[in-house]
Amino acid sequence: MWQQLWRQAERDPRRLLARLGLDEAAARLSEEAAAQFITRVPQGFINRMRRGDLNDPLLRQVLPVTDELAVVPGFSLDAVGDGAARKATGVIQKYQGRALLVTTGSCAVHCRYCFRRHFDYAGENAARGNWAEAVASIANDPSIDEVILSGGDPLSLLTSKLAELTDLLAQIPHIRRLRIHTRLPVVLPERVDAELLDWLRALPWPVSLVIHANHANEFDASVFEAMNALRSTGITLLNEAVLLAGVNDSVDALCALSETSFAAGVLPYYLFQLDRVQGTAHFEVSDERAAQLIAGVRARLSGYLVPRLAREIAGEASKRPL
Ligand SMILES: *Cc1c(COP(=O)(O)O)cnc(C)c1O
Repeated sequence: MWQQLWRQAERDPRRLLARLGLDEAAARLSEEAAAQFITRVPQGFINRMRRGDLNDPLLRQVLPVTDELAVVPGFSLDAVGDGAARKATGVIQKYQGRALLVTTGSCAVHCRYCFRRHFDYAGENAARGNWAEAVASIANDPSIDEVILSGGDPLSLLTSKLAELTDLLAQIPHIRRLRIHTRLPVVLPERVDAELLDWLRALPWPVSLVIHANHANEFDASVFEAMNALRSTGITLLNEAVLLAGVNDSVDALCALSETSFAAGVLPYYLFQLDRVQGTAHFEVSDERAAQLIAGVRARLSGYLVPRLAREIAGEASKRPL
């Protein structure tokens, strides 16, 4: 069922624009940008975009435009130092106690600001060889107490493939928490099916699932339903957003995002400053402006609805609070 919806994702930016009643030239569409990182947008996500609005905050996240071709100093191919933090094939460790698995390169949506848009997924993929190398590297390091499933998007994998991994991890006594970072419940909420819920319920650790939504409009009835179903398994739901110019860089947009997330049962976790990845400079918001925005949010909302504003700096011991 969800696999079929996955396959029906829009891959042609011209058709995406036509469907929204938008003009190609005005959209500053770029073939070259589209060739560097192909377009992929699930139909259900397109349904949440406003027709006839080139500035739609959801469209802006996924449309390949000429701005991406700008070569801007400071914007590189591996902005967050993933290469240097590699512990084994598909295993990245930057922080105390936490090992991150790049479980797959696949994702249901291609966000233009993706910090792994240049990542070598063919080579760096923990699922290769039935997880053996990744699991061995975690088993051999008793300081790891939390395993983070990342990607790509880990929920791109079949639930049976994920269960294969968690069955192996369950044999490692020093693991105490599992975390899943995924945008699928937002962009393809049908992925939250009975099989996935059964898997989550049966996991032997406390689980947190960190979704990724940047704008309140990303939540429609189908997303609320998926979040409710996920919550019914007893896991903790958090949201990570990225501060993006032209998408959510206003106090109103950020407040609406926090309030809507919470209404769906999801607590705000991080609001990240953009990782400085080549092709994404047009999304950047200055640190000064970011600090003003978060102060504006703090002045309006309950404390638990204010996300931690932070930036990742390669080589540091944690994400850096701003
Ligand atoms: C961001 C990140 C984490 C998680 O950091 P938290 O502050 O615990 O959310 C873990 N591993 C890697 C490689 C990361 O980039």
